[in-house]
Amino acid sequence: MSNTLTLALSKGRIFEETLPLLRAAGIAVLEDPETSRKLILTTNQPHLRVVLVRASDVPTYVAHGGADLGVAGRDVLHEQALAQGGAHGLYQPLDLQIARCRMSVATRADFDYAGAVKQGSRLRVATKYTEIARQHFADKGVHVDLIKLYGSMELAPLTGLADAIVDLVSTGGTLRANKLVEVERIMDISSRLVVNQAALKLKRALLRPLIDAFAAAAGQAPTP
Ligand code: ATP
Ligand code: MG
Repeated sequence: MSNTLTLALSKGRIFEETLPLLRAAGIAVLEDPETSRKLILTTNQPHLRVVLVRASDVPTYVAHGGADLGVAGRDVLHEQALAQGGAHGLYQPLDLQIARCRMSVATRADFDYAGAVKQGSRLRVATKYTEIARQHFADKGVHVDLIKLYGSMELAPLTGLADAIVDLVSTGGTLRANKLVEVERIMDISSRLVVNQAALKLKRALLRPLIDAFAAAAGQAPTP
């Protein structure tokens, strides 16, 4: 639809933290994803709709034109770029500075991580982010067996499935509740605006003001 923009968001943090940026641009989403089961949400702007997708599906929707733009975490973007050898067809004009957290290594409190690294032990690491973890430990020269999980990473060290996990941490509350400790920070995470490159040319008149409004709301200089 050439006269309509589709914005891909994921439910939860990213949706909640994108709302104020939209509001600052005069955009209101007219349905609440927590109470509605709709996956396509209307806004007060006739030419803008929001689609709700899994966080890790946002780059796919935007890259393939299922959405013109979207908001995705650096965790998801970096993991997929490492897996695919580049971010295909995605223009990333802005760091929105929302959904901030960090990617860290955590272990049980009684696991001697520094000692294991120093001794050159082989570590079993459970994570959803296998590419980021692979790169991190390769850079450190630590040998790892990676175990791919899709959720509840904290459980892995507690059940003996793994020595360590690589996961997102914000307050550390979930780690503490499970008696895990953060032993290494890998990278700071925040969410980015991602834009379909073809849409940027074909729908420039609709997209440009929206990108500029996101930039202003996020307190950033407009991009060229
Ligand atoms: P799915 O539900 O599709 O499996 P998910 O559970 O990873 O994905 P969320 O937990 O909502 O989805 O996370 C979505 C995005 O929000 C992540 O990709 C990350 O960028 C950000 N995020 C995740 N955890 C935190 C956190 N603790 N603090 C701040 N931002 C976070
Ligand atoms: Mg989730």
